[in-house]
Amino acid sequence: MSNHTYAPATVVVHGNHPKNPAGALAAPIFQTSTFVFDSAEQGGSRFAGKEDGFIYSRLGNPTTRQLEEKVALLEGGEDCTAFSSGMGAISGTVLSILRCGDHLLADKTLYGCTFALFTEKLPQFGIEVELIDMSNLDEVKAHVRPNTRMVYFETVANPSMKVTDIAAVSAHVHSVAPQCLVTVDNTFASPMLVKPLSLGADIVVHSATKYLNGHGDVIAGFSVSRGDIMHTIRMVGLKDVTGAVLGPQEAYLILRGLKTLKVRMDAICQGAMEVAKFLDQSPRVQKVFFPGLPQHPDYEVAKREMAQFGGMIAFEMKSFEEAKAVLNAVKLCALAVSLGDCETLIQHPASMTHSMCTREEIEAAGFSDRLIRLSVGLEDPADIIADLQQAFEKACR
Ligand code: PLP
Repeated sequence: MSNHTYAPATVVVHGNHPKNPAGALAAPIFQTSTFVFDSAEQGGSRFAGKEDGFIYSRLGNPTTRQLEEKVALLEGGEDCTAFSSGMGAISGTVLSILRCGDHLLADKTLYGCTFALFTEKLPQFGIEVELIDMSNLDEVKAHVRPNTRMVYFETVANPSMKVTDIAAVSAHVHSVAPQCLVTVDNTFASPMLVKPLSLGADIVVHSATKYLNGHGDVIAGFSVSRGDIMHTIRMVGLKDVTGAVLGPQEAYLILRGLKTLKVRMDAICQGAMEVAKFLDQSPRVQKVFFPGLPQHPDYEVAKREMAQFGGMIAFEMKSFEEAKAVLNAVKLCALAVSLGDCETLIQHPASMTHSMCTREEIEAAGFSDRLIRLSVGLEDPADIIADLQQAFEKACR
């Protein structure tokens, strides 16, 4: 039994069995900015890295640490650093690794703020950013160079729902640019569906605001990787560059939310499949983007690399006006950005999450202003379908 490895459903509940003070079952919230040293020598040793122990909550906090250890276990990484947002995790990670003169090869379909960071800010630091279609392995082969320091993409791209073959891209990149770090934003899938590190990626980043917390009440992010990479990301990206530290109250809420990740993802994925099938047969809908439908161009990759197809669906109406009318006609679905919550959320990427992209960039990313994005929640799928049906009837007369 000593070598027994726990399944993800057990890991989300127990983590690595921390012994909490006073035998507390739930993680205590260490609401403190700093930690008192026993002696000047002890303080000096901790700063010098010669003695373990907490120093100051920007460098580590027991509640946050318990969460980081659980997420590292879940993603199969050696270590994890928590951030106060997904964008904190992404900027803290890329700014820890990339230097002036480096080449960043990224997918052209990305969450809007990641896209803005890559295309507007990183070039100001002398980082060359090139955007390609990462789901096309020939494009990857044609564009990876000896000085490519990072390859970046989303497991399931926001909002076009394209799925990149993590194993194939990682194997090729490492064969031609061994120093290149393949970095995957696993927000849309969660570690319940895909573990990018086990498929060959080097770093996983998350907006924990979404499925990991799952209850729409926290903004947070994670970066997960090998110990040496994580040390750099914590001591440079978190400590010095962004200072985007996750507070212990938020860490506690995510520890609580994580306990139900497996059951939430199972129910959400099942519901999303039903909703996607309904949308697929609806004469009101022009096109459905969901990797669980056999006609999706990346269905085979998704089947191979994902345990389930996820809870995110995008669909195109016949016109921008119809898309807008549907958004204004839903009653049960909440008209809100974000995703991964118990409530079904519906939004319009072109004017909301991706409003910083030009029309050309939106087209290049594979979507249009007719696209609606749906994050399927935990409601009965029949109720979500009934809400969409009544919205279609009202919007498409
Ligand atoms: N990555 C993806 C795929 C996202 O959808 C988002 C936000 O929607 C982020 C990162 C940024 O996360 P946060 O809002 O927690 O900063």
